[in-house]
Amino acid sequence: MSDCCSAPGLMPFEKALAEMLSAISPVTEAESIVIENSLDRVLAEDVYSPVNVPPHNNSAMDGYAFRIEDRTNTERLTLVGRSMAGQPFTGVCGKNECVRIMTGAKMPSSCDTVEMQENCQVENDTVHFLSFRKEGDNVRYAGEDIAKGHLLFAKGRKLSTIDVGMLASLGVASVAVIRKLKVALIATGDELKQPGMALTDGDIYESNSHTLMGMMTRLNVEVLNFGIIEDDKASIRAAFEQADKNADAVISSGGVSVGDADYTKEVLDELGEIGFWKIAMKPGKPFAFGKLPNSYFFGLPGNPVSAVVTAHLLAIPALSKMQSCHAYMPIKLMVKTATALRKSPGRMDFQRGVISTNAAGETEVHSTGSQGSGILSSMAVANCYIVLPADKGKVCAGESVQVQLFDSYLA
Ligand code: AMP
Ligand code: MG
Repeated sequence: MSDCCSAPGLMPFEKALAEMLSAISPVTEAESIVIENSLDRVLAEDVYSPVNVPPHNNSAMDGYAFRIEDRTNTERLTLVGRSMAGQPFTGVCGKNECVRIMTGAKMPSSCDTVEMQENCQVENDTVHFLSFRKEGDNVRYAGEDIAKGHLLFAKGRKLSTIDVGMLASLGVASVAVIRKLKVALIATGDELKQPGMALTDGDIYESNSHTLMGMMTRLNVEVLNFGIIEDDKASIRAAFEQADKNADAVISSGGVSVGDADYTKEVLDELGEIGFWKIAMKPGKPFAFGKLPNSYFFGLPGNPVSAVVTAHLLAIPALSKMQSCHAYMPIKLMVKTATALRKSPGRMDFQRGVISTNAAGETEVHSTGSQGSGILSSMAVANCYIVLPADKGKVCAGESVQVQLFDSYLA
């Protein structure tokens, strides 16, 4: 690494993330819930398939089922019955006989092959086969999709919409999941007012707890929203103590920059073991992480973009680990930047970008423009981060850059 990026006193982003994750012990308490409520919950146990899917050999086509051995010396078979989805053939399909069968219907037990109806001519109860088949054609076998006893989902998997459907398709009615985390949100700052209130001179509207609330909804945790806490030592102490008592994690925003709102630091130092980190990332340099008596603490910077980015890239992975969830791998791509990018070496940049397909059909990214850490609108128009390594300087148009697509936490 060159001298420029071993920026003294700044902790590299990857190191901060790794240190934080290794300090976290996941929650292991589990509860059993019905699958209707299992979306976005984390499995506390491996789930094995209790059944074969499909449950029986069935036809992949509308046509006629028969025994391949009967087709070696004749192209005509006698029709003896039919098998419909949900109404299987219950008779016996014997030598030189066949059964009308519909897609998905159960194969008669003595049959092994299906011919599609387009290749058959039917006269009264005789079926004339116009093409040749090999054994097993057009048959879907029991357990072909999922075999009984097969490991379906491993413990630690966060259940997606498709996963819930899969569980239903196997007849699984309930699953054991990790209990929901309780996360307390605290916004600090005398200047903050909730939307709907009138602003007095010097005030701004509070937005961090609102973006965080959305992310917490996507994370499927229970939120204890403490709202706005004024920059006053007793109020901050009371709020942090209350939050710690009732939550597994406390996330505050504001008051972690150098020399700013000293009460926050003072109170946190009194209450727990909190590290005040300066991370070599932009946006989002100041960040606090540590342990309160009952909970983990995440102190986000106050600037709205810094708060969102540090919550997304640091707090969310940490909370996911707390949920005993498998590590989530964000999608990263190398694409050409259509715009030049301003950057000075020293910190890892997470610039806001828009990835799109140009007229030539190539994927490219362009900057959203001004990258100030207070400009939340730059985040709203973006659909990805342009991730520039700490030692990188300015980037020319046409260079390849790494982008990380925004995921459901920001959508
Ligand atoms: P601080 O870290 O408290 O110095 O805050 C840095 C900047 O972010 C200041 O301009 C604050 O007014 C602003 N800020 C802090 N908290 C919030 C919040 N919850 N919503 C919107 N802006 C905030
Ligand atoms: Mg403040």
